[in-house]
Amino acid sequence: MTPQSEEIQPTDAPGAPTAASRARLIARWDAIETAFAAEYYSGESQLLTTAVPRIRKAVEGVFVIHGSRRPDVVVTAVHGTNHVRDGKEKWADRGTGSLAILLSEITGCTALVTLGADGDGNHDFTHPAKTVLLDLPGVRTLVDLHGSAHLPDSPDIEIGTATGYVPDEFIGSVTANQTLRVLVDVARTARNARRITMLAQTHGIRAVQLEIDALRRPPVGNPAPRAELLDALTAALVATPVPTPADTTAEGKR
Ligand SMILES: [Zn+2]
Repeated sequence: MTPQSEEIQPTDAPGAPTAASRARLIARWDAIETAFAAEYYSGESQLLTTAVPRIRKAVEGVFVIHGSRRPDVVVTAVHGTNHVRDGKEKWADRGTGSLAILLSEITGCTALVTLGADGDGNHDFTHPAKTVLLDLPGVRTLVDLHGSAHLPDSPDIEIGTATGYVPDEFIGSVTANQTLRVLVDVARTARNARRITMLAQTHGIRAVQLEIDALRRPPVGNPAPRAELLDALTAALVATPVPTPADTTAEGKR
């Protein structure tokens, strides 16, 4: 497979999904994920810029696709490769780095991912991913992606709202989705100053953390449940209102 030949162009309006469009998106998700999965998710792969020609290295280990249509929305994934928390190696949240990028390609939002960054971007108070995030201009909404292990009775998505300064329309869309089991603030609330979600909220960005079940992500998830997740997140991003000029003026003051 040649990853770049599968690239989703940002001019593709996310219309009503078809079986063919879903299959194409799942193939693209897998193609991007190869860059994260290479070298056993060590983060040592150099494949990302080949798989995703539009992505740019912001600083060592942190990569950004600047949003085309929706630069006011950023989707982050800082656990897409193995990482180190308090000196202990933690396994990757597989399929999340590639999902952030794919959502950027579909909706034209910004994606910020880590690949081989030092430390833990959702735990260390100071982390290059956080610095890059807060330097992005005009961000109004943040969706931070994580992965959770599949357990009996586990939800498809757990939403963490941290301080409660959240993108209401995004959350409303996800929780109204009939194909997914969604829980809010049960085990993983993101209510911790170390979390990206809470950091963004304290900087005037509406933010939400999503913990996504392994059966909805590669490499374990089957195409159909993954496509349902993708449909739900695409719809929720599209439902997030475009900022008005008044919002933009207010943003300049934050
Ligand atoms: Zn995580």
